[in-house]
Amino acid sequence: MTLSSPISAALPRRNTRRVHVGAVVVGGGAPVVVQSMTNTDTADILGTAMQVAELARAGSEMVRITVNNEDAARAVPHIRDRLLALNMDVPLVGDFHYNGHTLLTKYPACAEALAKLRINPGNVGAGSKRDPQFAAIVEIACKYDKPVRIGVNWGSLDPSVLARIMDQNASRAEPRDAGAVMREALVVSALESAAKAEEYGLAGDRIILSAKVSSVQDLIAVYRDMALRSDYPLHLGLTEAGMGSKGIVASTAALAILLQEGIGDTIRISLTPEPGGSRTQEVVVAQEILQTMGLRAFTPMVTACPGCGRTTSTFFQELASGIQGYVREQMPRWREQYDGVENMTLAVMGCVVNGPGESKHANIGISLPGTGETPAAPVFVDGEKTVTLRGDNIAAEFKAIVDDYVATRYVKKAG
Ligand code: SF4
Repeated sequence: MTLSSPISAALPRRNTRRVHVGAVVVGGGAPVVVQSMTNTDTADILGTAMQVAELARAGSEMVRITVNNEDAARAVPHIRDRLLALNMDVPLVGDFHYNGHTLLTKYPACAEALAKLRINPGNVGAGSKRDPQFAAIVEIACKYDKPVRIGVNWGSLDPSVLARIMDQNASRAEPRDAGAVMREALVVSALESAAKAEEYGLAGDRIILSAKVSSVQDLIAVYRDMALRSDYPLHLGLTEAGMGSKGIVASTAALAILLQEGIGDTIRISLTPEPGGSRTQEVVVAQEILQTMGLRAFTPMVTACPGCGRTTSTFFQELASGIQGYVREQMPRWREQYDGVENMTLAVMGCVVNGPGESKHANIGISLPGTGETPAAPVFVDGEKTVTLRGDNIAAEFKAIVDDYVATRYVKKAG
């Protein structure tokens, strides 16, 4: 799989190990990878394959599916086969809790079909069962040459690790607060599990770590610490981010700071979909975080003004929204046909105050007339005014200009 534009040299990733997940590279300076997770019943082969395909088409470069029972484990190879029949080789990540050792042992075809296993050290097994069950999963990962994400989550933190860190803390001259103890336990659980996996034979370059929490400040603290104390690639995400703007804002606030510091090699945005909403929103948000930060480019971005009293028209809002939707729709085809089209910038502005200036900074910009202005919309292409649109057909004519620009400006891919 070819990833789009390379990560900005100004923001090198900190963690230096490189892990291959199917054809996707995670860590070691590779572009930050976008992943997502299905919410279908994995035993529903068709439904899950369709949702994986939808997420992959939206731009998810890895897709995690839950493998929670025998029906799900049996379904995994069939899901993979359906995707391959659609010419989609998106790596599938199996999410295992409690019974992963049993399912992977009983259904080797499931292990074989997955590109990565995700295990949660807090949910591998309790007491004396934990180590042998963890070892069994690692053994299967080694046998089928699968990388493993050791994914700690504060909702399911290994109680034995937490108890040990609490005891150590109690014996300190100046005990740390409960939050610091919890954060330390999360990091220790991830690092000790990784060390144990290596002890059991998993190569260091087959391990990815995560330690997710749902508080922005805790997430930043935990990942800063984990990045200092290891060089495994890090999967980054604010767990249980929530719905709508809260989930998007909280995820962005946490991830932007960490990504800016070079922390995070693959990301997932854990949004709760609105009832009836598309699962692909989490992919769009992940891409937009990376793209607006200048780390990667996926889809041409539309700059639009917020509007104000100088324009009572909602036409520019409709045009901005329509153009953003249009370029996103076209991207699967454009990506196949043209190189670099994802870097194109567009501007849709509401009046003459900032309209022409902002439009000149974009590859293609249009400045619509504000209240009382001449009903004309100058279009700028690469900083030069090329045409003035008028009348009722401005949206369609602007789209045609965009299409023409893409076809002539971006070099067609060979073959
Ligand atoms: S460009 Fe014009 S309409 Fe848009 S926010 Fe600025 S002044 Fe208001």
